[in-house]
Amino acid sequence: MKSLIILGATGSIGMNAIDVVRTHREDFRIVAMSALRSKEKCEALSAEFGAKAYVGEDAAVRAVEENDADICLVSTVGVSGIKPTLIAIEKGMDIALATKEVMVMAGELVTRKAKEKNVKFLPVDSEHSAIFQCLNGWDVSEVDKLILTASGGPFLNGPEDLSKVSVEEALNHPRWKMGAKVTIDSSTMMNKGFEILEARWLFDVPVRDIDTVVHPESIVHSLVTFKDGATMAQLSPPDMRVAIQYALSYPKRLTAERARLDLAKLASLTFRAPDPVRFPCLRLVKEACEMGGCATAIMAAADERAVAEFIAGKIKYTDIAAFIEKCLEEAPRFECSSYEEIMAAADWVEGR
Ligand code: MG
Repeated sequence: MKSLIILGATGSIGMNAIDVVRTHREDFRIVAMSALRSKEKCEALSAEFGAKAYVGEDAAVRAVEENDADICLVSTVGVSGIKPTLIAIEKGMDIALATKEVMVMAGELVTRKAKEKNVKFLPVDSEHSAIFQCLNGWDVSEVDKLILTASGGPFLNGPEDLSKVSVEEALNHPRWKMGAKVTIDSSTMMNKGFEILEARWLFDVPVRDIDTVVHPESIVHSLVTFKDGATMAQLSPPDMRVAIQYALSYPKRLTAERARLDLAKLASLTFRAPDPVRFPCLRLVKEACEMGGCATAIMAAADERAVAEFIAGKIKYTDIAAFIEKCLEEAPRFECSSYEEIMAAADWVEGR
């Protein structure tokens, strides 16, 4: 039986993880869970599983400081995931990672610390889980390309003018029901940009060898092309519990009563190249990578702030990418290899 700490328990990843545990009580035991705001929900869930509940700004940090577990599931929102991840690594817990900002802002730091502590990263994101499954048994030196699939979000086919898009329209994701921040990030394709960086650090593959293809059906969750020309893909109906369960059960696979793929019923799957003009965030990610240093941390912090302002009705949809671009242009260049330096990058954006 594996013991778990779930950070961000009341969010969409946390709730799906809890659902996995509910149907596999003999395999997993939850020792603690945290939530930022949903006090009653978190306490009710904790009571159901006999776990400790932590609620509030410092809940995730306290949950990992005061408990030990085999796996810490990090599914908090944004920058706040970095500190508890570092503490969990320090304490020797494997990290089931859903919070992309941890890799985008602190990828070098957390992967270095994980290596020192002999701690594993277990991908929770469907794309990275797919790559993780495709790579099983192969060495990364045999990889030619990682290919991330993208649903394309709600604005794949329109409207022409994105500047007038409303918050409700941006939150209306065609395939996945997720939290507000990641749903907006999916609509701008910044989410896919973050996933490129996440893949770069999780699998130690250079960004130039990571491609993106739009696949609106969200059945093929990502692919790996090897040096001999063979390509492996992982397919399943879009249900985030498949990836979450594999992260928790790895290296085993557990039986689950959920929808199976029916290829004859699907009949066809479609793919196309992403549009770099409609979705400038993909370009910004590549530029931030080339800048190096703190640029990707600046980019993620700028995105977090711009998305919050868009949701609050303070800026236009197209201002999200514009704000990130401006921050990248104007930010001072400094190293970002310590937690303090990463937070300094986030603070620089906050002071804008
Ligand atoms: Mg994803």
